Amino acid sequence: MRPRAVVAGGAGFIGFHFVSRLLNEGFDVVIVDNLATGTHRNVTDLLAGNRCEFVEHDVCQPLVVSGPVDYLVNLACPASPADFSRIPVEIMRSCSEGTYNLLEIALHKRAQFLHASTSEIYGDPEIHPQSEDYTGNVNIAGPRAVYDEGKRYAETLIHTYHRQFDMPVHIARIFNTYGPRMRPDDGRAVSNFCVQALTGQPLTIYGNGQQTRCFCYVEDLVDGLFRLMTSEHTGPFNMGSSQEISVQELAEKAIKLAGSSSQIEYLPLLHPDDPKRRRPALERIQEALGFAPTTDLDTGLQATLDWFQQVITPERA
Ligand code: NAD
Ligand code: UDP
Repeated sequence: MRPRAVVAGGAGFIGFHFVSRLLNEGFDVVIVDNLATGTHRNVTDLLAGNRCEFVEHDVCQPLVVSGPVDYLVNLACPASPADFSRIPVEIMRSCSEGTYNLLEIALHKRAQFLHASTSEIYGDPEIHPQSEDYTGNVNIAGPRAVYDEGKRYAETLIHTYHRQFDMPVHIARIFNTYGPRMRPDDGRAVSNFCVQALTGQPLTIYGNGQQTRCFCYVEDLVDGLFRLMTSEHTGPFNMGSSQEISVQELAEKAIKLAGSSSQIEYLPLLHPDDPKRRRPALERIQEALGFAPTTDLDTGLQATLDWFQQVITPERA
């Protein structure tokens, strides 16, 4: 019998690539998604084969899934900082009630649980790079905390199910990930810069652009998620790239690769506690899972620019 996975959030950016990988690996897949930030296009493209079903559902509401489930994958949560003030309560509820409802399904079905946590649980980190043992620096009253604290709560709840019910669980702390299928208006740095460069608009740098991130190409990330899901390891594991770059350098790279004449515009930070530096320590996941991203930023950004070019000028698709 083929393994069967329920993927909550499967209509989103990472969800699309992860479900594609599962289908390629011979899984049957049930996508559960309320399309809050996912797209009909992703669902339509994934349903083209006959081993994928789609259930439109908000995971904050209890859900019954018929048939056997081997893996329950929780990607269901809006993830762009632009959403933190647009739909803050929905984000907290996805992390708390949503994770609880999905854990209950996994428990009932005796399924393994794979969870997408985040580097944001480290907040604005005081140590660099961030290792899994670091307990973080989250401002609980700040606007980012709906996501950061929501994800922290979710991790704790998952560890509790693991301890209480002996449930096999796998936790990935995903760092900034980019690639095709990002939404042009999702508000993250890579999507904004690519679209702005392609359309000749100024690239909007928030703050002075000296803050750093490490951007991981989505195919590399999905490989890590698949390795983790099919392993014996609980984690948590940092997952991402360790190639650190400033936001200023990222903007300049996007302009260059797009062959654009866009200028750079400096705007105030979206949130005052925007992390100043972020880089994952990857020793633990390298040792446990052999995880090693292979896509360099220029190659990944070019593929992402090609995707956005197609999306913003659909007549050329
Ligand atoms: P995304 O917004 O593209 O995907 C999230 C998906 O979850 C969407 O399809 C959305 O419609 C769905 N969703 C949201 N709330 C839901 C709800 N209540 N019920 C059902 N479906 C719901 O974002 P993404 O970048 O693909 O992120 C996927 C997961 O990975 C998220 O959990 C996110 O927190 C995590 N993550 C992503 C990144 C990144 O850089 N992309 C970094 C760290 C963690
Ligand atoms: N950023 C920016 N301009 C944008 C979007 C984002 O300067 O148009 C900055 C943002 O302030 C942060 C970094 O780029 O410092 C990465 O932002 P993103 O939203 O991609 O992810 P985050 O790491 O904040 O979750």
